[in-house]
Amino acid sequence: MLSDRARRIKPSPTLAMDAKAKAMKAQGVDVVNFGVGEPDFDTPEHVKEAAAKAIRDGFTKYTPVGGIDELKEAVVTKFKQDNGLDYAKDEIIVSCGAKHSLYNIAQALFNPGDEVIIPSPYWVSYPDQALLNDAAPVFVATYEKDGFMLGPEDLAKKITKKTKALILNSPSNPTGLAYDRKGLEAVAEIALKHNIFIISDEIYEKLVYDGTVHTSIASLGREIKDRTIVVNGLSKSHAMTGWRIGYAAGPKDIIKAMTNIQSQSTSNPNSIAQKAAVAALNGPQDFVSVMRSEFDKRRKFLIGGLNSINGVCCLNPNGAFYAFPNISKLYGGKAGARQVNSSLDMAMYLLEDANVALVHGEAFGDDNYIRISYATSMENIKKGLERIREALSRLA
Ligand SMILES: *Cc1c(COP(=O)(O)O)cnc(C)c1O
Repeated sequence: MLSDRARRIKPSPTLAMDAKAKAMKAQGVDVVNFGVGEPDFDTPEHVKEAAAKAIRDGFTKYTPVGGIDELKEAVVTKFKQDNGLDYAKDEIIVSCGAKHSLYNIAQALFNPGDEVIIPSPYWVSYPDQALLNDAAPVFVATYEKDGFMLGPEDLAKKITKKTKALILNSPSNPTGLAYDRKGLEAVAEIALKHNIFIISDEIYEKLVYDGTVHTSIASLGREIKDRTIVVNGLSKSHAMTGWRIGYAAGPKDIIKAMTNIQSQSTSNPNSIAQKAAVAALNGPQDFVSVMRSEFDKRRKFLIGGLNSINGVCCLNPNGAFYAFPNISKLYGGKAGARQVNSSLDMAMYLLEDANVALVHGEAFGDDNYIRISYATSMENIKKGLERIREALSRLA
């Protein structure tokens, strides 16, 4: 009955884990939820007020498909100010979240048989979005010892005549690592040499630490800009996950195709949320730095705590709000009747025996790790860390 396409994909494993944790919570279990992929902060007040005003003003009708001019102008200014990138309004599309922008790109670019290179560990939706659009995901491993930055030789080895695009995500979900400029330059050089597109997901741009400066690969030069579609949005930077506003910038003909596709699927993003996004981009940005410094405190505490647990080794992530510890040294361990041999075993053990929810690394393409989100209170982080420490000490 179902299409081949529908049977090719799986539901988002991160959302599935989150649902399981919430179900336990609903039954009264005191679960520490490290599974979440959204800021635990409230949307800033002036942004909410802009939405309330939009409703009062009756700004509740269809808008232009790719977003209102006012919002596109705010996005153009953001790219100029933050990334040194010059885009015209017809090189911008606003979609129902960054995920939707990414989906539009897949629809606009991929043909059956096209290969899409995805560095692993990866964000869970990249492979399935490629599959939904008849393209083949091609994974290229990245390594802890390189800070999970894609090695240019490893990338070059995976490129074939069928390669259409590379998906980059910096700062990364799940590793929390951001590329430095040199790393991006090496990738750009290979992409240009082989004439492939770069889809650059920069949704965690504002969440960088330890003096890290976010660089957009599109800003490295005219040529690479012409081969790159940059994706960003308000979900992470302004704690606006539920509002569903994301955007993309890139070559005019690709943006136009994405807009046509959007016109036949969702039409415009929510009119009220667009007004809120204008306020978020044009208004005061102090919210972003307050949120970032709170994340930074939690990050330091969490990484220190994880590395003090026997058998756990965690790189210091300089972006996003995730820790991605290597727990593979603990594989083979037993606690009572339970044996832990994989990241899923570990996630299940910690959820069921320690009431800590997190996501198994296998969901992101690497079974040696687990992903811990610190988008939760310091109190929860302390409690969760102690539970993990205790549970892991029981593995022998
Ligand atoms: C959260 C997230 C997104 C999706 O953001 P929305 O704007 O809410 O759709 C995209 N990419 C990555 C890597 C994310 O973690």
